[in-house]
Amino acid sequence: MRLLVVEDEADLAQAIVAHLVEASHAADHVSTADDALAAIRTTNYDLILLDLQLPDGDGLSVLHDLRERKERTPVLIATARDRITERIAGLDEGADDYLVKPYDLDEMLARIAAILRRAVGDGILEREFGNIRINSATKSVYLGAKKVDLTRKEWALLDRLSRRPGITHSKSELEDAIYSFGSEVESNAIEAHISRLRAKLGRTAVETVRGFGYRIGRS
Ligand code: CA
Repeated sequence: MRLLVVEDEADLAQAIVAHLVEASHAADHVSTADDALAAIRTTNYDLILLDLQLPDGDGLSVLHDLRERKERTPVLIATARDRITERIAGLDEGADDYLVKPYDLDEMLARIAAILRRAVGDGILEREFGNIRINSATKSVYLGAKKVDLTRKEWALLDRLSRRPGITHSKSELEDAIYSFGSEVESNAIEAHISRLRAKLGRTAVETVRGFGYRIGRS
């Protein structure tokens, strides 16, 4: 999934991004409310992790802007322990959940995963497509009884496609979903990942919808 991390503490932001990448997400980082507003207007994020105390203002203004434009992108807010009223205001503005600083990065990942299960897909943890079984909680894939090892990008692609069975995803949509801003992306990157997924899971695992993109499963 593609996430935006809005956090002005450089060390914390770096640790968060590293943790997200380790969990197969693509993450962009900005450290001000202004940069966050610019990022959310140009990129479709699956989730925004939003610190509410930013150097150029209140993170709540970012959330407010998003919801005012009827953008339903999930938002996980982060606040200091003593900022209870701010936390409540955030939830009132439409935040999906909150973290209290300092927070544990594994707890952060678990909360993100829970929000994404509801937001991208229908909350189902395990899906089957023929003899392929995909578990989004454990990030594991089985072909029959055999566990299949995927790279992070292969997993990210399979996860994205399988959460919306039967829906065709365009190449550019898939690129946006698995690569962060500034990544060096070869023009045939998606095709290459898809062909490796087919090599590992079978030729029919991912269907090409000619002229449109790729899909898994029938709607
Ligand atoms: Ca801050």
